[in-house]
Amino acid sequence: MSTQKYDCTVLIDASTSFIVEAGSPEEAAEKAELLAAEAGAGSLCHQCSDHTETGDFYGVMVYCDGADVLDTSYQSGQISKLELERDQLKAKLAELISAVRSINYSPAHKVMVIGDDEPQYRQRKEWIEWVLELCDVGPHKVDSKECGA
Ligand SMILES: [Zn+2]
Repeated sequence: MSTQKYDCTVLIDASTSFIVEAGSPEEAAEKAELLAAEAGAGSLCHQCSDHTETGDFYGVMVYCDGADVLDTSYQSGQISKLELERDQLKAKLAELISAVRSINYSPAHKVMVIGDDEPQYRQRKEWIEWVLELCDVGPHKVDSKECGA
């Protein structure tokens, strides 16, 4: 068996905590990010930076009196937004599939047209407009702004 060289990056999770006073969880999150930036959180000493790189802050978890009051990380907000969007798309897809399956395809709807050796199936204008309307709100119309940052 032949082998190949693979360049692998191992992702490491890290965090740093601050106690701040603020008027809201959102304000607390902003203050904490500023404090973390000022403290150089996420940057490494000379020795560690030889073998490890750090990225940008990607979220703040805010607790108040032991309760989880805000999570601005990708994991929480974005995933639940994507799950909602996925569920909406699944429902739309089911509706569209059901509509397309109602197409006239029985022998009673079959017509032969001069110049075409294949049978054709008549659809009412109303049905065609309804299916096309369902396509207008299909996946390609999803607002990309809802997809995130
Ligand atoms: Zn170090």
